[in-house]
Parts: sequence; C-alpha cells; structure tokens
Amino acid sequence: MFGDLFEEDYSSVSNNHYGKGKKLKTKALEPPAPREFTNLSGIRNQGGTCYLNSLLQTLHFTPEFREALFSLGPEELGSLEDKDKPDAKVRIIPLQLQRLFAQLLLLDQEAASTADLTDSFGWTSDEEMRQHDVQELNRILFSALETSLVGTSGHDLINRLYHGTIVNQIVCKECKNVSEKQEDFLDLTVAVKNVSGLEDALWNMYVEEEVFDCDNLYRCGHCDRLVKAAKSAKLRKLPPFLTISLLRFNFDFVKCERYKETSCYTFPLRINLKPFCEQSELDDLEYMYDLFSVIIHKGGCYGGHYHVYIKDVDHLGNWQFQEDKSKPDVNLEDIQNKEEIDDPLMILKAILLQEESNLIPVDQLGQKLLKKIGISWNKKYRKQYGPLRKFLQLHSQIFLLSSDESTVRLLKDSSVQAESDIQRNDQQLFKTLTSESSRLNDRPSCPHWFDINDSRVQPIKEKDIEQQFQGKESAYMLFYRKSQLQRPPEARANPRYKVPCHLLSEMDAANIELQIKRAECDSTNNTVELHLHLGPYYQFLNGALHPVVSQTESMWDLTFDKRKTLGDLRQSIFQLLEFWEGDMVLSVAKFVPAGLHVCQTLNGDDLTLCEIEITDGEDIFVWNGVEVGGIQIPTGSDCEPLLLNVLHVATSSEGEECQQFIESPHVFPSNAEIGTVFTALAVPEGVILINNTESRDEENWTTIPKEDLKKTFREQGLRNGSSVLIQGSHDGNSLLTKQGKWINTVNEINWLQVKNLSQLESEEEQVKISATLNTVVFDIRIKAIKEFKLLKELAENSCLRPIDKNGKLLCPVPDSYTLKEAGLKMGSSLGLCPGKAPTSSQLFLFFALGSDVHPGTEMEITVEETVSVRTCLKIMLDKCGLTGDTWHLRKMNWCFEAGEPLCEEDAKLNELMICSGDTLLLIEGKLPPLGFLTVPIWWYQPRGPLHHWKDHQDQTNCTLSQGGVWKASSTPGHDLALLGVFHPIPSLPPSLDGGK
Ligand SMILES: [Zn+2]
Repeated sequence: MFGDLFEEDYSSVSNNHYGKGKKLKTKALEPPAPREFTNLSGIRNQGGTCYLNSLLQTLHFTPEFREALFSLGPEELGSLEDKDKPDAKVRIIPLQLQRLFAQLLLLDQEAASTADLTDSFGWTSDEEMRQHDVQELNRILFSALETSLVGTSGHDLINRLYHGTIVNQIVCKECKNVSEKQEDFLDLTVAVKNVSGLEDALWNMYVEEEVFDCDNLYRCGHCDRLVKAAKSAKLRKLPPFLTISLLRFNFDFVKCERYKETSCYTFPLRINLKPFCEQSELDDLEYMYDLFSVIIHKGGCYGGHYHVYIKDVDHLGNWQFQEDKSKPDVNLEDIQNKEEIDDPLMILKAILLQEESNLIPVDQLGQKLLKKIGISWNKKYRKQYGPLRKFLQLHSQIFLLSSDESTVRLLKDSSVQAESDIQRNDQQLFKTLTSESSRLNDRPSCPHWFDINDSRVQPIKEKDIEQQFQGKESAYMLFYRKSQLQRPPEARANPRYKVPCHLLSEMDAANIELQIKRAECDSTNNTVELHLHLGPYYQFLNGALHPVVSQTESMWDLTFDKRKTLGDLRQSIFQLLEFWEGDMVLSVAKFVPAGLHVCQTLNGDDLTLCEIEITDGEDIFVWNGVEVGGIQIPTGSDCEPLLLNVLHVATSSEGEECQQFIESPHVFPSNAEIGTVFTALAVPEGVILINNTESRDEENWTTIPKEDLKKTFREQGLRNGSSVLIQGSHDGNSLLTKQGKWINTVNEINWLQVKNLSQLESEEEQVKISATLNTVVFDIRIKAIKEFKLLKELAENSCLRPIDKNGKLLCPVPDSYTLKEAGLKMGSSLGLCPGKAPTSSQLFLFFALGSDVHPGTEMEITVEETVSVRTCLKIMLDKCGLTGDTWHLRKMNWCFEAGEPLCEEDAKLNELMICSGDTLLLIEGKLPPLGFLTVPIWWYQPRGPLHHWKDHQDQTNCTLSQGGVWKASSTPGHDLALLGVFHPIPSLPPSLDGGK
C-alpha cells in the first residue's frame, strides 16, 4: 500500500561537497567532508532512506535510548569483528546501531552511512527499503531490536522506554459491572481528519464515552441480557517516551483513492495527558510531556521526502538562529570592527586568553573558535590561511605547539602583548564574542532545535515547528518525552558521555585517520608542479630565450607545496642544483611563439607561493637576474616578443613588372616602435601595411600613416602571427590604388602551371610559367610552347584552357585577356590544347545527349554568338550523327539537371543570355508550335472522396471539396492521365493545388 511513498524528492538531497572545482586526479582521494558549523552529523541518503534517517536521528537524540543501548557491552552483544565466525553469537543489529550512534556523536564527518545497519536488517535492495512506511518502520525496527536483544539485560529496553497501555472499559448501566480489556501500545495512532489538533483527537479517544442505547444495546455477561452501557477508553500506563503517528494518509472510499490530509492539525510543545488517563491522582508533573521530535512528510500521498525537526536536549550541537545561518556573519553584526573577525590571529589569541594557563588542545581550540564565531576554521579561514595547525606553526612567535602538536598555548610575552592588543583594539569584539556564545548556547529557556534533512543539519527556532501544522509539508509523527526526565549535567555538550570505551577509541582512531587523509588531500591540493628553466642552458636569440641543447635538458620539473615560501623554494632549488654559484633569481617566464620570455622576477622570500600567485604548471626561469650567455635580456610583459610575418617586395631579375614577395618571420619587442621594421629589414623608407587577421584579403590590410610610425607594435594592435607588409616608396603605386586600397592578393606565388595537352599520344608534360596578374594569356601560351619545345605552327592553332579541381578542361581563355581579366589565379593549372580559342564574338559551348549528363563526357562546339537556337541544335545533332525534328534544346541548370527548354527556336544565342562555358542538352520531344501552350490535364477518378473529406476536416476549413479533390487526384498511387502533353511537368500549378 505504501509502495511508492518513499520515492525520493531529489531536489532536497544535499549537494555533494566533494571534488567541486578540483582536479580529477585528487577526487578519488578526497575524504568525507567534516561537520558543518552545527557540529552535528547528518546521515547520507542511500536512496529512499530519508524516512529511516529521520527515525534514526530521533532515536539518536533520545539520550535515554542511546545510553541504554550503549550500556550493553560486548560480553552481551558479541563483537562485530566476530560476525563472520560461524559459532560466535553476535547481535548485529544493536551493535550496528551502537556504532552508528557513536559515529553520529563523535566522528567528524558531515554525514554518516547506514549501509551497515540496513545490511543487518537484511535489506539488501532499494526495493526492500521502500517497502516500509516510517510508522511501520518504527515498529519493525523496535521488533527487530527486541528480538535481537532477547536473553540480554537489554531485553526490555523497548518496553521500558516506549511501552504503554490503554484500557477499554464497558460499564453496565444496570449492574454497574465493569468489563475491561487492556491494550498494549508502543505508539499511538491518532486521526487527523475532522480534528483540529492532537488534544482534540485525544479527547475524542480517551474522554468521550460511547453509549449503548435503544437499538444498540450491550449484552452484559453479569445480567445475562441486553442492557444500556457506556464504553470508554483511557490511558492506563504512560511510557517515558510517547510516540504519536498522525493518520495523514487516508482512503477516500467514494473516489476510491488515497489522499493526504493536509488540513491544519496543531500539537503543543508541552502536553498534559492527565485528562486522558485512568488515574489522575498524581501530581500534574507526572503527566507532562515535552515534544522533542517531529518527523515531517513533504509531498503528496504517492511520494515525497521526509526530514525531521529534533530538539538537541543535551546541547551537543552548535545552535544558532536560522537568520544567522543565511548571513553567516550576522551574529557578529554588533561588532564594530568587523575586520577583526577576518583576522584569525586576533580571535585565536582571544580564545586562548580565556583559558586558564592559556593552554588548550588544538582540537578544542577549533571547536571554541566555531562556537565563538559560528563558523568553522575550515569554512572561514582555511582557504586563505591553510589548516589551523599549520597556521599555529607559522605564527610560532605567538603560539607554542606541544611537540606532538596536540596542545597549544600562548607564548608568555605575546600573551601580554595580545592582551594589550585586545584591550586596545577590540575589547568590543572580545566582549561580544563572550556574551554571544553564552547567550546562544547556555540559556536554558532556549531549546536547541535542528532540522535534520539527510546529510544537512540546520538550526531552527522552536516557533518554526508551527509551520508543520498543515500543508503539503506537514508533521507526520510526533515524539514526546516525559518532562520529569532530567539529563545529568555531565551529559551537557559532552558527546563522549556514556559512550563505551571501545567505541570511543574506535571513533578517535577513525578521526585521526580522517585527519591524516584530509591533510594528505590538502597537501595534494596544495601541490604545484613547477617547470624550472635553467638560465645557463639557455641562449638569447631573435628576441627570446631558446634552449641551447634540448628542452628536456634545460627544463626541470619540481613538485612543491604552495603554502611554503619563496625562500623555501629557492632553498630547494639550491639543493637541487649543486653546481649553482652566485646569485639565484627566480622569475616567472612564459612561452610565447618567439620562445621563452621572462615576465616578472619573484620577490619576497617570506611570502608563500600562494600569496605570490604561483599556479600549477608555472614556468620559472632560474638565472642571475642580469644576463644569459653574456646578453642582457629584456624582462617584463611590456617587452614581450611578438612573432610577426614580414612581407616585402623583392626586385626580381624581370624588373618591376614582376613583384616577388618575400615572407619571413621576425621578432620584435611589443613595446618597440613600429618604424623599427625598416631598420630590421634594412629598408631605407617606405610604407607599412599591417594585417591582424589570418586572411590576406585586401580589406584586412591597413596602411600605417607616417605619423604613427612612432607608435609601438602593441599600440597598433599587432599580435603574434600578425602580418606586416613593407613597400619601398618607389613601388608603392603598383600595389596601392590612389585611394590607398590594396588591389591584388598578396601572394608569394608568381607562376602558372601549363600542361601540354596538344599531342594526344605524348606523355603529359607540365611547366611552370612565371607571370603576374597583368600578364597577357597569349604571352603565357607562347612561353609554354617554347618551354615544351613544340613546333612554331602550334602557336597559330592552340589555346589555353583552365583545368578545374576535378581535372575538367574549361572554356578556352581568349589570348588578349590578362590573367586578371580571365579570372585566373596564381598557381592555377592550364591545359595547352589544339584548336583556336573562340574570338570575342564566338561562344564555346558544351553539349550532351539526353538529360543524364556524366561530367567530363560532354561534347564541345564553338559557334558565333548570333546563331539561332535552331541552327545551334542542327550543328549539335550533326556532331552526334543524328537527324530528325523531334529534338529540342534545354540549358543545364546549376545542379546538372535539364532546365527550361529553349522554346524560341529562332532567337539568337546571345539574346537568350547563353554564354561561353554553358552546357546545352539535346532532349527528345518536339516543342509546341509558337503561340500554343502546353497545358497539363489531370483526370480525377472519384475514389473514396468521403475518406479524404474526413481526413482533412480537422485540419482546414477552406474550400474543402475542391481542395480535397485536388489533393486526392495528385496523391501518388492515384491514376494520373496526361493528355496531349509533350513532356511531363513534375508538380501541380499552385493555383490548382487548392488545399495547400
Ligand atoms: Zn450488568
């Protein structure tokens, strides 16, 4: 019935604190997080165990239960170490519960695990855990524990604490005979429906009488006949701990479904049970009970989440108001000098001064700090100051740690000093801290309530409980304890109280292990790997440092704790480099494209690497601080070397006609004047253009005005990889238009490739012909013929045809064109082919038969641009050896398919915008005579129009009969009749396709 009640609401599962923003390699080593500022441990959610966690925390915060369990020693329960031995009597459930309680009390972790305990219940799968309701679970747990404790002194533990009785009585109105029946209970189930609160419900159950009357008489055994009678119930024996289950989940028999009763249901913090009891002669105090736990169900009746409000009777936790929690420093808001809180030195001194003899165990110092400022060392200071112990060590002029580092005390002089410090500077703080802690922790009238939600533990105010009277999130189980139960003063704020020795030592050992793990993890997290670059192994070349031999020899890796100081680092490096003589300067270096550059020299030997912001993987240059290989080297990020591509025009043997660009890498300090480029390249003067993009398109080049030549490379926005072009002023005009714009693509390529395709049989030769974009195609052709050593006659009857990237020969280029006019790019390939290039009045066309064209198989033709379509068709048919008049021409479109037919057969090719290089297709079929139209006609066969009507009805309200009809007729698979059509048109004209 409660099958899915325990589906988790994962939004309320607390966040994992491990590994956030840390390196993956350290993640596995990360020990569990320490306790939060409340200093209480939560319980991890194992998947659907929030109800179990709430119940276990309630039992844990029932000190009498916890201590009764702890009082059972190994001689009665056995020992967990023996649990796998076949003949050993080990009572696993109580042992696991003991251990869990010990962990909750003492183990410094944010949340404990219940895995071992649920294993001891024999619950191995999630399914088994989800089978139980929290009220059921309470009984199951008690019964399991009771069974497990049979034969020990703890056999009556549950009964002693939780067992009560109810007496049901029927009184005969005739003979006054009382017939009674006693009922045992471990918890009371009370109605929620139509009841205003707990007292109301108890009144209905234990005060109101039921009268047997009229039609409903009672058979009295004594009178032996049907009589009038009264039935009542009373609480006879009250247990020390009263557990009340609220019937929030009901079944609606009309709707036949489960529902959650969310109406208002009040319950008092203190309740007097006297009116509900059979005997009422005792003192009122005997009937007083105090609320100490409220298990809350959040969600609907088919799922949700449980958490619990618990009163920390023994003041084990660090309790603060909730508002303080959301603003961690708010409880200190009345401190005028808030920076003092940020100074851990001041606070630690203040705490130690309060101690007699100023001596205290280091662990306690941490706890006192937590109590004073409401936040732990790890939370507040660790990031900045490292672990507490380390901090104390570092300030050895103030704190004296014992040799085993377990206790700390103030050094005598400094305690005097500190006292005066405090009196002078923050008397206010000192006072406030003291009063704050006493106000929060020691006022008896202020009960310490916590909201324990799996791993998360937060302080709440007592009045927050009222929020759980009603609603989707509301109280589900109530736990009261007899007000007369007093806690011994020794138990107050003492988590070790009554914990058996073996568990104390187990927890102490586990805490030490945790500390070690955390320290290890801490040092892993604080380790940086440094790359040391040794000056003597470097040389200064081309504006940057380069290893003399190899990178591996010149670079040493060093792993170092970043909490150590620069002085420590220098010392370690000295030890590492036994050969080192003289000064050692450590500088942060940086790899830039030009090489290694020294950015900043490290100063301040007493600062930690953390403080001087050394990060993992930093490159450190180790040198004498002045020179490398006798060269004084520039340092600082200002003069970081830039690696630039410098292009300049070299005068070639061909004269100014041929512009040959030489591109070379050059390194300049970024704070040098841009004009230094001239000196570097030994160019007397000229124009500088810069380009900060990878592309060398003309719009990306900008000319530096003469007055800006004094600006630095950085000021001009130059980066590594930027390009700089230098033009001597004498050749400026050929590269720049009058507007100062870049004309040609700057390119070091100044040739074209020509393949000899003039002789079919010969082997394919190719030559490179140097050229510029202004070279005329004729010149290239003649040069190629010379290079190929071909017959001069070929000059009269050959042409150059560009070869595209698929190897296809394109339309011949007219001889008179320059390369630029012909749209040819430097470096492209041309074929030297037999046949004349078309004249300016001629068209060079490709053509093919049918619409299925295989690229490269087209035929070619040269015709005057003024011939008619009809003539062109005839020439093409002739070339194919075809005759007849059942053909027409179509232009091939850009996706290599037959496009529109050339209908006007008498039109001239140039009128139809046919250009050289176009492909025409010879298609079978006669075009209609001029003045006639081709009209496609579809024959509609009425086949199931109602069906279509129905289909389209939902979607559209337009002219459905027509739309439906046309849709139907054009649907594939329907009969389609084409009458008097020369060629099919693939789609319906839009005007007829009415449905769309
Ligand atoms: Zn009777």
